[in-house]
Amino acid sequence: MIDLTDPEIGLAIKGVQQASHLAQRIQQEMVAPALVKEDRSPVTVADFAVQALLGHWLAEAFPEDPLVAEENSKTLGSAEGQSILEQVTRSLGWFVPGATGEDICRWIDHGNQQPGDRFWTLDPIDGTKGFLRGDQYAVALALVVEGKIQVGVLGCPNLEGGALVVAARDQGCWRVPLTGSQDLQPLHVSERDDPGQARVLRSFEPGHTHVGRMDELMAALGVQAEPVRMDSQAKYALLAEGKGDLLFRLLSPQQPDYQECIWDQAAGSLVVEEAGGKVTDLEGKPLDFSVGKMLVANRGVLASNGRLHPAALEVLGKSKKNSESRIQNPA
Ligand code: AMP
Ligand code: MG
Repeated sequence: MIDLTDPEIGLAIKGVQQASHLAQRIQQEMVAPALVKEDRSPVTVADFAVQALLGHWLAEAFPEDPLVAEENSKTLGSAEGQSILEQVTRSLGWFVPGATGEDICRWIDHGNQQPGDRFWTLDPIDGTKGFLRGDQYAVALALVVEGKIQVGVLGCPNLEGGALVVAARDQGCWRVPLTGSQDLQPLHVSERDDPGQARVLRSFEPGHTHVGRMDELMAALGVQAEPVRMDSQAKYALLAEGKGDLLFRLLSPQQPDYQECIWDQAAGSLVVEEAGGKVTDLEGKPLDFSVGKMLVANRGVLASNGRLHPAALEVLGKSKKNSESRIQNPA
């Protein structure tokens, strides 16, 4: 059983529940692209509002803990940003009456700290592109202590009528209603061990993976079914529930040196591991969360129910050798 009286677990669950309701209401009422960041990725009212809400909660509850989160308030200071800030202020007011624009920028920037021995990491809206399509996204919050994820929570409002998945180290992985009741259901990965029968999960966005290599790997494993395309760490929740068996984050040919951000993997990886699964990079190395804001010691991610991990690593190794020999001996 998970210890709901633990202050960190309790806050993470309540915070992500409330943040998920906030995101859901924004998605229903005002979904529209807000701003385009320097890296050309979109950011919405919901990204800012959720980071402000959880920045506020965490600063109050654990003032000593740094928060390492995806967004910052800089762009909200521009002329274009002003109207976004007004919308963020209006929506945050649903949950924190009286919050001002100044409060909100301060709470967002509470998330601009560096990782330390103990810190929280947050992706306020993981899968912003899915959120904008009215599709899957996740609020992803994790507590990291000495490089190990101790608590991970995923709020997935559009997954199976609304899912909140919480994992705590050595305490298992649980599904909790998004509504706040304490009706917990334990989650376990599948027992599938035939690669041909595997249900594979991949990013919805083709630019976040390598579609050609994915096809090659599916053929090498003899996978019959088409991979399920889904945005965000909601994929990890599905894997933890036993509704998927293998998840590949391959490196896009457009960005072969892409390094994962810790907030994109922290909560999801504990969720899968505590449900009995396995998470490594594409070479089988454990994800190293002790090296800063990015997973610089790893390349890509392979997550599985555990049983299918060796077969997946084997085909990944072979396809890497094939592509290296193609580079050395082009036809
Ligand atoms: P997904 O929903 O699986 O597409 O993953 C969403 C996350 O992918 C976002 O939070 C981005 O931070 C991250 N991302 C952005 N660009 C890339 C890329 N080129 N390769 C892999 N992930 C990316
Ligand atoms: Mg993300």
